[in-house]
Amino acid sequence: MERDLEGATAVVTGAAQGLGLGIARELGGRGATVVAADLQLDKAQTECDRLREQGLDARAERLDVTDSAAVDAFFAALDRVDILVNNAGTGQRLAAISELPDAEWRRVLDATLTGAFHCCRAVARTMEQRETGAIVNISSINGQNPAALAAAYNVAKAGVISLTRTLALELAAYGVRVNAVCPGPVYTEFNQRTMAQRCETLGISEDQMIERVRTAIPLGRWGEPEDIARAVAFLCSPQSGWITGEVVRVSGGLEGVSATPPKRSRD
Ligand code: NAD
Repeated sequence: MERDLEGATAVVTGAAQGLGLGIARELGGRGATVVAADLQLDKAQTECDRLREQGLDARAERLDVTDSAAVDAFFAALDRVDILVNNAGTGQRLAAISELPDAEWRRVLDATLTGAFHCCRAVARTMEQRETGAIVNISSINGQNPAALAAAYNVAKAGVISLTRTLALELAAYGVRVNAVCPGPVYTEFNQRTMAQRCETLGISEDQMIERVRTAIPLGRWGEPEDIARAVAFLCSPQSGWITGEVVRVSGGLEGVSATPPKRSRD
């Protein structure tokens, strides 16, 4: 693997598992010092221990990205941040907009959009001063093409794209680049939970759902965390030095899943 991130310090949020962990591994493998920031400190620590056993430079920190003051304190305590990957996010309990509770809307928006805003704001201040840095925000194909019954998540991810493009404009004069990646389906805990709910609404088994999604993907397979991580690493590296405000879909060609539900019974 090319060590094109040697000497850089990278913060990856939500890195205790799933895509965030894959991204931490990829950035570390390319020579970055990785700070894995997650709500789940024990899990993040265990994974960072494993990465260090493989010769990578990684450490874990507890961070709740929804806590504005905690995010400011977390970044203030770091000597420098060259790369920020805003990956932390949460799925939604599936519900039609007409039945979506306030608390669920707020929970998803807080973790998935406002958390990314908190981290972008904190890091923008120091990257602006140092006139260097790269930020990658993890959106979703749902941010470009909404799926039914996931309005809060779709809106949060569309917001992440707008946040990315706005910040790219604001930081361009300082040479700081800001891009977004829109992953397609990767079989993580998050995806498993959402799929289980979709199986219920469609009355099909998990295996049938897995196959249905697979055949909808033009490249004919589900994604792996490394597929997403490699695109993120490219956007963090000097190789993408003239790319900012870009939204890169990494989805095997899948543009979105509308998942239109049948008419509900009125009993
Ligand atoms: P995951 O649920 O497996 O992992 C998410 C991680 O984020 C967990 O470790 C969790 O503890 C952490 N986290 C959640 N809320 C947090 C908070 N408030 N502060 C700090 N950490 C927090 O999910 P994943 O599938 O790895 O997804 C990662 C990102 O990729 C998410 O933003 C998700 O929306 C996005 N995404 C995933 C898929 C997919 O198919 N897996 C597709 C498109 C987009």
